[in-house]
Amino acid sequence: MANGKIGVTTENIFPVIKKFLYSDHEIFLRELVSNAVDATQKIRTLASFGDFKGELGTLDVRVDIDKEKGTLTVTDRGIGMDAEDVDKYINQIAFSGAEEFLQKYKDTANNIIGHFGLGFYSAFMVSKKVEIRSLSYKEGAKGVLWTCDGSPEYTMEECDKADRGTSITLYIDDESKEFLEQSRIDALLKKYCRFLPVPVISGKQQEWKDGKMVDTDKDNVVNATEPLWTKKPSDLTDDDYLKFYHELMPGQDDPMFWIHLNVDYPFTLTGILYFPKIKNEFDVRKDRIQLYSNQVYVTDQVEGVVPEFMTLMQGVIDSPDIPLNVSRSYLQADTAVKKISGYISKKVAEKLDSMFKSDRKAFEEKWDDIKVFIEYGMLTDEKFFESAKKFYLLKDVDGKYFTLDEYHTLVEGEQKDKDGRLVYLYATDKTSQHSYIQAAQDKGYSVLLLDGQLEPHMVGLLEQKLEGVSFVRVDSDTPEKLIRKTDDKGSGLNADQTEVMTIIFKSQIPDIDKAQFMVGFESISADAAPATVTQNEFMRRMKDMAAMQPGMSFYGDMPASYSFTVNTDQPAVKTIIDETEKAIGSKTSEILKQISEINDEIAKVSKEAQDKKESVPDMKEQNDKVSSLRSDLDKVVTEYAAGLPKVKQIIDLALLQSGLLKGAALSEFIKRTAKLL
Ligand code: ADP
Repeated sequence: MANGKIGVTTENIFPVIKKFLYSDHEIFLRELVSNAVDATQKIRTLASFGDFKGELGTLDVRVDIDKEKGTLTVTDRGIGMDAEDVDKYINQIAFSGAEEFLQKYKDTANNIIGHFGLGFYSAFMVSKKVEIRSLSYKEGAKGVLWTCDGSPEYTMEECDKADRGTSITLYIDDESKEFLEQSRIDALLKKYCRFLPVPVISGKQQEWKDGKMVDTDKDNVVNATEPLWTKKPSDLTDDDYLKFYHELMPGQDDPMFWIHLNVDYPFTLTGILYFPKIKNEFDVRKDRIQLYSNQVYVTDQVEGVVPEFMTLMQGVIDSPDIPLNVSRSYLQADTAVKKISGYISKKVAEKLDSMFKSDRKAFEEKWDDIKVFIEYGMLTDEKFFESAKKFYLLKDVDGKYFTLDEYHTLVEGEQKDKDGRLVYLYATDKTSQHSYIQAAQDKGYSVLLLDGQLEPHMVGLLEQKLEGVSFVRVDSDTPEKLIRKTDDKGSGLNADQTEVMTIIFKSQIPDIDKAQFMVGFESISADAAPATVTQNEFMRRMKDMAAMQPGMSFYGDMPASYSFTVNTDQPAVKTIIDETEKAIGSKTSEILKQISEINDEIAKVSKEAQDKKESVPDMKEQNDKVSSLRSDLDKVVTEYAAGLPKVKQIIDLALLQSGLLKGAALSEFIKRTAKLL
């Protein structure tokens, strides 16, 4: 029998382990079972190279609880260890400055375990004593028993052990009794060991008998040793993938499709990523991709490990290049992990590209559901944008799909404005913007439907990326001006008429909460609508963005400002203009003439003063006179306009078209219309 001191620099490592590893106690089981699985795979490898010629026997790992003795034992039939191995691998914990290191990383205890060959020692987080019984595969090896009670002193002696392999017995301490419960162990094995490559047995299978669940005599194997992602995609059916999905993510609807990752260069990476159907709201949970390292569960916190947009997906990723025992912040900084992230993104893009190329129709059918992933990716991942722009689709209001290139070609002829910019017209709601869409289509324009949650952002991104392209919503200007092909035609009204007609319309527009109207005139065409309400593209985008982000409430609280454009070519409008001229023309001209005379006088006086470098007299009398003339004009015109049901009708039609006519104003419109009939 040999006694010795475990080779660490710190006096007593175990109190430190216990203290700092507190929150992660449960991972001891993962460590021990992983070691057992490693040892088992090593013997398999040795046998396959002919370096081990004995009987392999049944290769499994057992986790047994003995409640009476208060022990938990992990047993394998792997390569085992002889005294020399135990000394080398267990006694000499090869790290210096352990304490310093532990201090530095105490917040994320997971950092140290494994990283410094401390996996086995995590057993001391839950044990008052640990025994290793082992028999090496080497010919003539003798059994070895190592015992340690949690102080740096251990004992090591020979023992009789008939079977090759290692058995590690933990004498569970008083605070950790939970690990003597089969149900707790089952849950942990399910979490960490569910897909380990060697059968892991714990407890017995149960059956329903005499009104309760009882043990049968059949061993309970907790894991699937060949999970789906380790198999060849060509050997698998859709049903296999769906079944696996439901095992992984119980209680979810079927996914839309999946990507089987299977790479061995430049690093090894396998996995299956599922695209779930995302409901209208962002019902996103970011813990739905599980990370494995050689089938050992590492974490489901994958932010930073997979590209941001892929956290919308679900499934598993397995790479031996993912370090097993490090914290998330460490994972994110790891260069191998960074490469993996970039690589996964590339693979996803390739898969989507091949789906697009091999069956465009099927791809289009899925588009509305998958676009949120793709758009999220394009918005957050520059490289993904570059690959995705080949299969990114634009959909028009009639449900036809175009790639960016195809769409460019489609509208190039008709939709260039006078400055040579290509204008992509779009609607965000087919129903409420129907008449605007119609008007644009009547002019021979194509209208896109951008109704996704991320599309306001996509508009901005595409404008940046596609040279010479602007996006304009169909209701942001009159049909003529959506794409400005020539300079303004004007309205055909003289200055006096413009003043009077502005009052006619402005005075009759009902008060609408948080809305302001700027009345303007334009000769559009005889068969276009008499008036249209539009909202400037820039202002609307600002308000939309404000609604999405906090901190931009300045724009959010401002009333929306609309242009109210009257079509002076439209017959009803023409009639109103002519009749107004006849009815109140002489009166209004007289007032306007007086106003302009006084204004001329004011201008003249102030110019003379300026020329003489004198201060400008205040001319209060003249200014008051102008104000009073203006209110006379207002009064005359407003009174006249109030008696013109047609003006109100034109206004209400325009408001109705833009969805602004509501409540009392709508009831009033209905009543008036009935009367007119
Ligand atoms: P790590 O597994 O990270 O190397 P551990 O402290 O868990 O660190 O184990 C140290 C070493 O002890 C292992 O690398 C292995 O050589 C040996 N070892 C641990 N458990 C077993 C086992 N069940 N069978 C054979 N060797 C083992």
